[in-house]
Amino acid sequence: MTESIYILLGSNKGDRLKNLDSALQQISLHIGKITQKSSIYETAAWGKTDQSAFLNRVIEIESKLLPEALLDKLLEIERSIGRLRTERWGPREIDLDILFFGDLEVTSEHLQVPHPALQNRRFTLIPLAEIAPNFIHPILHKNCLQLLNECTDTLEVTKFL
Ligand code: ATP
Ligand code: CA
Ligand code: CA
Repeated sequence: MTESIYILLGSNKGDRLKNLDSALQQISLHIGKITQKSSIYETAAWGKTDQSAFLNRVIEIESKLLPEALLDKLLEIERSIGRLRTERWGPREIDLDILFFGDLEVTSEHLQVPHPALQNRRFTLIPLAEIAPNFIHPILHKNCLQLLNECTDTLEVTKFL
């Protein structure tokens, strides 16, 4: 069976559109088929506000990889696009987060799925609800549209492309 896997792409450094595009290319080359893509949205930086705005989009992919192997590939792609890991929440060419891996729950030192903060972030929920409004969060038991409607995050998210 193929799980619905949802990934959040983000960039707030360098040529942001180009970074998102090269991530898409590399994901389809090294990970699996991209079955859905949300629009691209722009959001002021979250957490640390003294940096430039993010572009974000969510994609759905199919892959035979296990979650840990998927994370390793995503981190490799981040590095290849030039991301140097420095401070958490600092500016980055590309950030690739696993939001959902089907109904799977993963809690390990390196990986938490569903992504523990997704329900708190409009910049994640807006693109997610665009392509997967009815997908049900396996722990919170609410669909993505409900999560968006209940989210109290006030950061403005605007459609970019
Ligand atoms: P946040 O997770 O709050 O969005 P971040 O994306 O800025 O923060 P990073 O510095 O990109 O955090 O990642 C730190 C580590 O988070 C990664 O090296 C990875 O091991 C771990 N991690 C845990 N759960 C996930 C997940 N669902 N997707 C991607 N990385 C994860
Ligand atoms: Ca992130
Ligand atoms: Ca990340």
